[in-house]
Amino acid sequence: MSLIERWRRRLPVTRRTPVVSLGEGDTPLIRADRLAQAAGLEPGSVFLKFEGTNPTGSFKDRGMTMAMSKALEQGCRGVLCASTGNTAASASAYAAKAGLRCVVFLPRGAVALGKLMQAVMHGAEIVEVAGNFDAALKTALRIADEQGFTVVNSSNPFRIEGQKTAAFEVAEALGRSPDFQFMPVGNAGNITAYWKGYKELGGRRPRMMGFQAAGAAPLVLGRPVPAPRTVATAIRIGDPYSRAGALAARDESGGLIGSVTDAQILASYRFLAREEGVFCEPASAAGVAGLLKVCRAGRGPRGTVVCVLTGHGLKDPGTAARFSPRRRAFAPGRRFEL
Ligand SMILES: *Cc1c(COP(=O)(O)O)cnc(C)c1O
Repeated sequence: MSLIERWRRRLPVTRRTPVVSLGEGDTPLIRADRLAQAAGLEPGSVFLKFEGTNPTGSFKDRGMTMAMSKALEQGCRGVLCASTGNTAASASAYAAKAGLRCVVFLPRGAVALGKLMQAVMHGAEIVEVAGNFDAALKTALRIADEQGFTVVNSSNPFRIEGQKTAAFEVAEALGRSPDFQFMPVGNAGNITAYWKGYKELGGRRPRMMGFQAAGAAPLVLGRPVPAPRTVATAIRIGDPYSRAGALAARDESGGLIGSVTDAQILASYRFLAREEGVFCEPASAAGVAGLLKVCRAGRGPRGTVVCVLTGHGLKDPGTAARFSPRRRAFAPGRRFEL
C-alpha cells in the first residue's frame, strides 16, 4: 500500500489528490543487539529504522510522494530541487512517475555516484552549481519562484508531512514511541518531521538526539559554516533550512544536537555493515556514531533507543571502496587453503 493510502487520515490530501507512489514507507525496524552491546546497553533496547529499503534508497521518498502528489494536484510547470544527491534521486523518480519535468541543482563534485546515476537514469535535467549545497538551494528557490516551478526540497511543507509517517511506523512497531531517537541532521527537515509525527501521536515522546558532522555542524556552533566538509555528503550542509525546527525538536524533547567526527562516522558505518548486516550510507551512520559517543562519555540513554539509518550504502560506492580488503588470487585447478 502507498504511504499516502496507509496514513491518509493524518495527511493533508483529499479524494481528488492524484497519488504519485512507488510503494514507499513500511521500512523495517531491526533489533540491533551487537550495537546495544557495543554501546553498553541492554539486549533488545536498540533498534535501527532502516530507510534504505525505500524505492530510491532513502527516506526522501516519504516526503516526495506527498510533494509530487500535491504539485500535480495544484498544477505546476515542473519540479525543481537543490540536492546533495538523495533529494535529486527521489524527485527524479517520482517526477518520472508523475510525468512532470524535473530539474536538479547539484553542487559540483560533491554528489555520491549512485545518486547521480539515479537522476541520470530517471531523466532529470541536471544543473551543476559551482558552489556548495547552500548556494545551490538559494539559487534553486529563487529560480523556481520566478519561473513557476514547485520546489521539492524540505522547504516544501508537504515533504515534512510525508516524512512524519516514519515516526508513526516506529511507534506502531514498538507498541509505543521510543525513549530516545538518534539520527543525522543536515538541512534538518527530517528531525523536524519526526518530531511533528511523535507530537501528533500524543503520549510519551522520545528525546530527539540529532548529530551533525564535525566539519558541517552549524547547529552545534550556533552559526552558519561557509565551507562545510565531511565524508558524509548527504549532511554536508552549512546553513540548514529547517534550523528552527531542529532546535525546537531538541528543546521541546529535552534532547541534544551534537557532532561526530568523520572517523567516528566511518567506524559506525563499517560496524553496522559488518556486525549488524545493515549497509547504510555514511551520513546515515552519524546517529549511531552519536549514540556510541554519548554512551562512551557515560551519558548513555535509558530505555528504548531507535537509530534512524536514512539511506542505503549502495548509494555511495566510492566510500565503500575505501574498505576493500586485500584480495587473494586463484588459479582454477590448484589447491586453495581457506
Ligand atoms: C537528506 C539526508 C540526510 C539529512 O536529512 P535532513 O532532513 O536534511 O536533515 C541524512 N542522511 C541521508 C542519507 C539523506 O539523504
